[in-house]
Amino acid sequence: MIYLLHFERKLSHAQHYLGSVADHRHLDRRMHEHRTGRGARILDACNREGIPYRVVRTMAGGRIKERRLKNRKNGPRLCPICNPSINQKQA
Ligand SMILES: [Zn+2]
Repeated sequence: MIYLLHFERKLSHAQHYLGSVADHRHLDRRMHEHRTGRGARILDACNREGIPYRVVRTMAGGRIKERRLKNRKNGPRLCPICNPSINQKQA
């Protein structure tokens, strides 16, 4: 499962983080790691800067898809906060 995090404010140029976990149960644990500074480095930077972030979307897929989406820098397009038309398309 792939998850997309949206930061409430930009951290330098970044406002999204894309990651993958085995399932929802793992996502809870992974988010706890992120919030306590034991996960992704960029999210620890958000913690230190006081920038809130949250899961805005989950998608089916694993590491290969995660890497493909990361390489395309698709965060803003995939994010329902930055791109509200996503929700309209899904409705
Ligand atoms: Zn966004």
